[in-house]
Amino acid sequence: MRLFLILITTLTVCCTPAEQEQTKQSTTKNQPNIIFIMTDDHAKNAMSLYGSELINTPNLDRIGRDGMVFNRSYVTNSICGPSRAVFLTGKYSHINGFRDNSDAFDGSQMTYPKILQQNGYYTGVVGKWHLKSKPQGFDYWNVLIDQGDYYNPTMVHMGDTIDHTGYTTSIITDLAIEVLNQQVPADKPFCLMVHHKAPHRNWMPDSVHLALGEQTYPLPENFYDSYENRPAAAQQDQSISQMFMSSDMKLKPSLIQVETGTGGAGDNSNIAAGWQRLYDRLTDEQKKTWDAYYDPISDDFFNRNLSGNELLEWKYQRYINDYLKCIMSVDENVGRLLTYLEEQGTLDNTLIIYTSDQGFYLGEHGWYDKRFMYEESFGMPLVMRYPPLIKPGSVNNNLVLNLDFAPTLMELLGIETNEPWQGSSYLSLLNGTQEEIHQDGIYYHYYEYPHGWHKVKRHYGVSTSRYKLIHFYHDIDHWELFDLQQDPMEMNNIYSTADPELIKEMKEKLVGLQDRYGDEVAKGYN
Ligand code: CA
Repeated sequence: MRLFLILITTLTVCCTPAEQEQTKQSTTKNQPNIIFIMTDDHAKNAMSLYGSELINTPNLDRIGRDGMVFNRSYVTNSICGPSRAVFLTGKYSHINGFRDNSDAFDGSQMTYPKILQQNGYYTGVVGKWHLKSKPQGFDYWNVLIDQGDYYNPTMVHMGDTIDHTGYTTSIITDLAIEVLNQQVPADKPFCLMVHHKAPHRNWMPDSVHLALGEQTYPLPENFYDSYENRPAAAQQDQSISQMFMSSDMKLKPSLIQVETGTGGAGDNSNIAAGWQRLYDRLTDEQKKTWDAYYDPISDDFFNRNLSGNELLEWKYQRYINDYLKCIMSVDENVGRLLTYLEEQGTLDNTLIIYTSDQGFYLGEHGWYDKRFMYEESFGMPLVMRYPPLIKPGSVNNNLVLNLDFAPTLMELLGIETNEPWQGSSYLSLLNGTQEEIHQDGIYYHYYEYPHGWHKVKRHYGVSTSRYKLIHFYHDIDHWELFDLQQDPMEMNNIYSTADPELIKEMKEKLVGLQDRYGDEVAKGYN
């Protein structure tokens, strides 16, 4: 706490270069470093600290066990680019301008890395960026092009395009350690964003994990969902039954000339050829390990001639096997980074954050992918470790948002800005003083429809700790209400049967949040 108070008194956003220089000189000692690790599409159900029955993630868990685990961390818009833009700006999609993946990020706007840089931090980002425009506010950036590849990625290092050989999760970690070792000036604290591609579709595991073989995993309770009273849920295109036989199931490219799954693509005519191209990017050595694992799976599949639920459950097992192996690489590489910091003696002086850009469906409702305001994709893992501030073993059950991250960081570092953040700082949750935030609930708005992938209809909503109200709009006008206490899997839409007082109260909260955040477009659909 003493360190924290020192920080509060010393850090400010300054105005002139001379003042900036003075601030840097007076504040560089003892400032916490920051490592912000973010994965892409990591579901809480695939992290053992959240009670996963599917996987053991000791290194990710360690961050939460040594610090705080947030059980109810959510996004404002459950899709890759938009979530990243919200983390960076602390503002909703309709304010920062990145509503869906067809948008490009306006990099001229204020972001938390820019503010840290102005306050004497060495700032860097390595890995997935996915915002189309060039990273701004960084002393170092080395990012994947668009979604990036699982193997042998091409990355852009400060404008220079460089081809790498190897597995991307490991390469991103190698580069992160290299930056910490060689680039960060000795007299500066650093903020390094380590952003992995994994475990984004199409889930290509590292060869070392193929040795583990295929396992059989339990089906989620609501795998066979009939979507009663939930027409938007019925009309999506993200069902496991429609996954690509080529790039998702990874049948041998030479045996799949025509893709039969819709896969959420709208047009699937190029998918089989795309899978062939992905396979062709592997080195001869990588292909050898790959074929040794996937050829027998392919042969077995064509011999068995599966159909109906047998085929569907085969697809689920195939998907989960590959997805989890990608997480195993993340876990091991996060462990490698923690060990490095420990060896350098900087672990306890570094705020470590692990999160994902949103959650994901691992067969719940019969789905993969994200987008919906339902719990599995609305929520994501969030753990933080920083012993000077956060008591080890802390568990938090408050609602927090990706929107809150930037203002939280500012308050934690004692940086005062005039930036009109829309999020709320949850520093009081981290340091144990526990001021309630988001008492009026948390607000959500998803936009990518009818363009884009997966046909998830536009919707917005409000969630309190117990109830969730959702309105699907555009080419549908449909309301849903869930009691998360009675119905945590959100199978029973009680909108038409609930106490009218409850509906009124939730709608008042919804309008209140739309007013507060200035979401006039959504208000027009209420
Ligand atoms: Ca994502």
